[in-house]
Formats: sequence, C-alpha cells, structure tokens
Amino acid sequence: MNNNKLKIIGIVLLSILLLPINSYAVTLQEYEDAVAKYTKELQEKEAKIAKGKEEIAAVKKNIADIEDKIKAAEEEVDRLQKEIEECNKEIEKKNNESKKIMEYYQVENGNNAYLEYVFGATSITDMVYRMSVAEQLTEYNDNVMKELKRLIEENEKKKIELNKKQEELKELKKNLEKEKERIEEEVSGVEGTVPSTKGQIALYQQRVDYYRSKGCKSSDVIGVTCDVPPKSSSSGASSSVSAGAVIGENGFRFPVVGGRISWGYGSGGHKGVDITRGCGTPIYAVAPGRVYYVGNTLDNYGAYMVLVVHNVNGRLVFSQYAHVQPNIPVSVGQNVDIGTVVAYMGSTGYSTGCHLHLEMSQYYGWGYNGSYYQYRNNIISPWNYVPSPY
Ligand SMILES: [Zn+2]
Repeated sequence: MNNNKLKIIGIVLLSILLLPINSYAVTLQEYEDAVAKYTKELQEKEAKIAKGKEEIAAVKKNIADIEDKIKAAEEEVDRLQKEIEECNKEIEKKNNESKKIMEYYQVENGNNAYLEYVFGATSITDMVYRMSVAEQLTEYNDNVMKELKRLIEENEKKKIELNKKQEELKELKKNLEKEKERIEEEVSGVEGTVPSTKGQIALYQQRVDYYRSKGCKSSDVIGVTCDVPPKSSSSGASSSVSAGAVIGENGFRFPVVGGRISWGYGSGGHKGVDITRGCGTPIYAVAPGRVYYVGNTLDNYGAYMVLVVHNVNGRLVFSQYAHVQPNIPVSVGQNVDIGTVVAYMGSTGYSTGCHLHLEMSQYYGWGYNGSYYQYRNNIISPWNYVPSPY
C-alpha cells in the first residue's frame, strides 16, 4: 500500500468522524450560498420561460402564415370551380348553337333561316361562301368546346392538387399546434416552480438578514460563535414567571398553571403528554429557547402547533405544543423564556376537546439547522426534562 492510498483512507476516516459534528453546525456562509444558489436557479427558470414564450410566438406566427395559405388555396379552389361552371355553361351554349346550325345545314326544315341565308345568295360563289361560313361556324364552335373541355380538365387537375396541398397544410398546422401546446406546457411547468424558488430565496435571505443584524459574519457558526441563545441551565427563575408555576431544578417548568394529565406518555403509543385545563388557558415555554415553527402544516389533521428549540448544555432539545388555538402570540425566530406565553389551549386538528399535547425530543449537538425529521425520530418522554406537578 503506497502513501497516497493511506492518505486517502485517512481523509475518508477523518471525514466520517467529523461528519456528525459538522452536519449540525451551520455557518452564515451556507445560508448566503443558499440564497445565491436559488437566485441562480430563479434566473435560469426565468430565462427558460422567456425563451419558451419566444418559441411560442414564433410557432404562432408560423400557424398564422399557414392559415393564410390554406385560405388562399380555398379561394383558388372556389375560383377554379366557378370557372369550370362557366365553361360548362359556355359549352352547353356553343353545343346548342352548333346543333341549330347543323339542323339548318341538314335542311330538315324547309322554311328556316339557314336556307334563307344560303339561298339568299346572289351568285353561286356567294352561295358556296355562305355554306362554308355555316360549316366554319360549327367547326369554330367545336373548337371552342374542345378548348373549354381542356380548360375544365386542367381546372379539375389544379383543384385536386390544391386540395392535396390544403391537406398537407392542415397536417402541418396540426403538428405546429401540438408543438405549441408542448412548449406552453413546459413553460407553465417551469412557471409553477417559480414561487417555491422565490420562497426559498426569501427564506434564506430572511435568515441571512436576521443573523447579519445579530452581528454574525459569513464564517460564524450560527448559535455557536454568534447569536448564542440563552441556556436553560443558567437561566433560573425569571421575574415574569406566573405564580403557581412548577419549576424543576434544571430550570424547566410545567407548561400550564394547574391542569390535569388526561393522557400519559407512552400509553397506547402516545408520543406526548396531554394536559387539560380549559379552552384558552395560557401555555408557557417549558424552558428558555427560540421558536422554531408556528403553524398547522406539519400535522396531517391541521392541528396548530408551536415548536421551540432549547440549547441544553449543547444538546438540541425540542418542545412541541399541539392542538393550540390559531391565535399564536409568538413567531419563528423569537427568543422565549419560561414566562413567555407561546400559545393558548385549543382543540385544533384531531382532537375531541381543548387540551395541550406536549411532545419533546432531544438530539446530540446543538444547531438551528436541526430538522423536523430529526425531531420526529428522537421523541422522548417530556418527564425527562419537565417537572410533573403530581
Ligand atoms: Zn396527545
């Protein structure tokens, strides 16, 4: 084994050892990078949308051109049809004329214009001339009819060609419309993801602004080298703590004044402790910390809840207050103390009456980037921290 291989193995081992620690700490730089990343993503999406819209405009123009061509072909077919009809009329007319002349020529009727015309000749020469005029007239009509028939044939051929061309144009138009729909779908697909990208930018920008306002620099590890939150163990009893509050030696308190436990932790798979004490009862943070989440989107049944993170000697502890009333008096990022009302007892979500579902979890390592997933997978009994009044 050569030195390089040993080095690589060493780096890998070191990475594995450092990974769990590194993944809990976040520097302000990481939030700034996230803002830059999502801003770039947004720009790319906007460019894609603009390009798609240009393509749609070009295809639309193409379709309009084809529609013009289809219309022109239709008009040409109409014109040819009219010409055919006129030719047919003319043929009929010439045919009748010729028939009449032939009838005269065949001298079937002794008392007719042809004979009058022929016998009206002043000389033999004149008579022959007059007879040849009649013959030429029928011959002329025959030629005109032949010419007309040729024109009709030609027009019929042109009509077939134009109809074929029209079909081709219609097919082309159909394909272009499909193409247009495809691009439109693509554009609206990208447009649909723009709000979430903008949301990500806003979220990270808000964090960057917040920590900048707290004096954090890009290289600072949030919550460790800057904006360090209050520690529960060193806080002691606050002057604003409500009378009758049950406070343990570790500084944690029972979240309501009075009340009774209506469902204990762990019984029937219960992940928290249910405390009942009348609708609207103030609920206090069980320890000093910072509000991590407020809302009703984490629960399948829409229960309103508040999540608070506590820094317990470098250990990440979450406390969750669920089924509370929607009028939540704290907001995300706010520092709270054991005297701070974080919610009011309610019955939102899957609940049959006003109560507080207190749930807690703990995680090794401290950091604000503790995820809800980490929270959900490390549930503990609230009694590990919260003192029971009974
Ligand atoms: Zn419960």
